[in-house]
Amino acid sequence: AQQRYASIRDTPAVTSCGTRISLTMNAGLMADLPSLEGSGAEGVGLFRTELQFLIRNKMPTRSELSKLYAHVLDNAGGRRVVFRTLDIGSDKVLSYMKKTDEPNPALGWRAIRVGLDKPGVMRMQLQALIRAANGRPLSVMFPFVAQYEEFKAARAEMDKALARERILGHALPSSLEIGAMLETPSLAFAPRQFFEEVQFVSIGGNDLKQFFFAADRENERVRKRYDTLNVSFLTFLQRIVERCEETGTPLSFCGEDAGRPVEAVCLAAMGLHALSMRPASIGPVKSLLLKVDLAEVRAVIEAAAERGEQSVREAVNAHLRLVG
Ligand code: PEP
Ligand code: MG
Repeated sequence: AQQRYASIRDTPAVTSCGTRISLTMNAGLMADLPSLEGSGAEGVGLFRTELQFLIRNKMPTRSELSKLYAHVLDNAGGRRVVFRTLDIGSDKVLSYMKKTDEPNPALGWRAIRVGLDKPGVMRMQLQALIRAANGRPLSVMFPFVAQYEEFKAARAEMDKALARERILGHALPSSLEIGAMLETPSLAFAPRQFFEEVQFVSIGGNDLKQFFFAADRENERVRKRYDTLNVSFLTFLQRIVERCEETGTPLSFCGEDAGRPVEAVCLAAMGLHALSMRPASIGPVKSLLLKVDLAEVRAVIEAAAERGEQSVREAVNAHLRLVG
């Protein structure tokens, strides 16, 4: 199988029905960067910037971060890298930050909530990103946006950072894309203006599924009860696809499920045509995508839903066995 994956490394992921699926990789450590070449990823769809904060025992400085991000962009050689701003709190606790004792950390003070309440670190990070881009294109996304106002406030921080950098004489990015992660069901129902203003949306499937089913992603016992291919969840994803289509907002999916071939095929069939995953998953996912007709898979999914099946997994697996 490894050889087969190597042989399709440079083949674009086009399904048998002719739909092009963009496959990018998730990264966060410098050690991930060589995988960009080897995996056939089209770019980095999710760069988890918190990993650089988590592996240290003190807060990195702005110039350290800027060097790091520049190194990432240099390695990407022009391919798109989507930097996600600091996603801490919940399971990701920095040893050098004051601990908050919360009864429900996953529902607590985390990610963009920390970034907006204590903007010092986020500002430093945004400046570091602008300096790293140094006149190149830059893509930034904010994690865990639960409502339109949070996106507006985060984008205002970016505007301020750009103004500050301009005054300081730094080159501004040649183009700038600002996106939001959709990780809480609430954002799927945000006003139309949100979808018009955000330049792209990326579904954080790990968190979205956790909040959709109210099942802790860290708790095996409850997590396993709910299949990603559950009809309710797929129907919800379909709604998100429709909302983005209404406004022409680019949409991607970057949770772990994107890296599971059967899940990836179902996501693609639901209209998610950009998937970001760990690099080792790109080969297996692409290999299956090349063989499927998404309209057929979609019909299988809809038929299973019609029959009242809880999950479409069995039906889709049966179909995929026929495809080979
Ligand atoms: C997610 O929630 O699906 C996601 C991609 O982010 P993380 O796993 O880092 O929370
Ligand atoms: Mg998340």
